[in-house]
Amino acid sequence: MKISTRLSAMVLGFGICIQAQAGDDTLYQVSTIDALLAGVYEPVAQVGDLMRHGDFGLGTFEALDGEAILFEGRIYQARSDGVVRQMPPETGTPFMAVTHFDQDLALTPPSDQNYADFKSWLEAALPSRNIAYAIRVDGQFAQVRYRSVPRQYKPYPPLLEASKSQTFFEQKEIRGTLIGFWCPAFTKGVNVPGFHLHFLSDDRQHAGHLLDFELTRGQVAIDLTNDWSVGLPMDPSFLDANLEADRSEALHRVEQGKSDE
Ligand SMILES: [Zn+2]
Repeated sequence: MKISTRLSAMVLGFGICIQAQAGDDTLYQVSTIDALLAGVYEPVAQVGDLMRHGDFGLGTFEALDGEAILFEGRIYQARSDGVVRQMPPETGTPFMAVTHFDQDLALTPPSDQNYADFKSWLEAALPSRNIAYAIRVDGQFAQVRYRSVPRQYKPYPPLLEASKSQTFFEQKEIRGTLIGFWCPAFTKGVNVPGFHLHFLSDDRQHAGHLLDFELTRGQVAIDLTNDWSVGLPMDPSFLDANLEADRSEALHRVEQGKSDE
């Protein structure tokens, strides 16, 4: 399946016409979020394959072994034991979304903002709710909460069940970057509607799936991605999965760090 839309230009409410930079505005992903929720953790691509489609993104690894972060062309694994390390291109992934990050918009958020207020503030600033955005936030965090999921063993449990054994982390007074996407509501089932961000500290020692923060001050860079390409795996684990259920509730719980209990 290839979903492709071309938006040549957009007119913002205040009369400025902006255009996404030509060329690399594709959000490329392998597999679907619902396949991951269903427990399809087999390696359906190598991270090196994804790196041909972008230098920026997120996902996870084979067997759900930690959170994946693609930043400035390097792939990082944030394991549930707190170890963060760079991974080789042949590492397998069951789900990942990437893009070539080209900044289209730069915004400065109000200082001392929590994640809930940040989301409202940034959503109000987005030119449209009907295209996807790659979002990069560099800043000083008074506090940041994130998690990582541990490696799973076959038969793989659904993601909500696997997240029972997730590890939560909290750092205070730390500099770092948030890396991820905002996707429209209609991407439900394929990607994560709304915000999905991963944290990576400046010293590359701390990383994971973002749950909450207090952003002292920061800078937001946004890349409009109005092409969306989905690589559907030809792996039996994907082909045989039941992807017809509505997994919105499970996704909501998993994204917020709640487990099946
Ligand atoms: Zn995540």
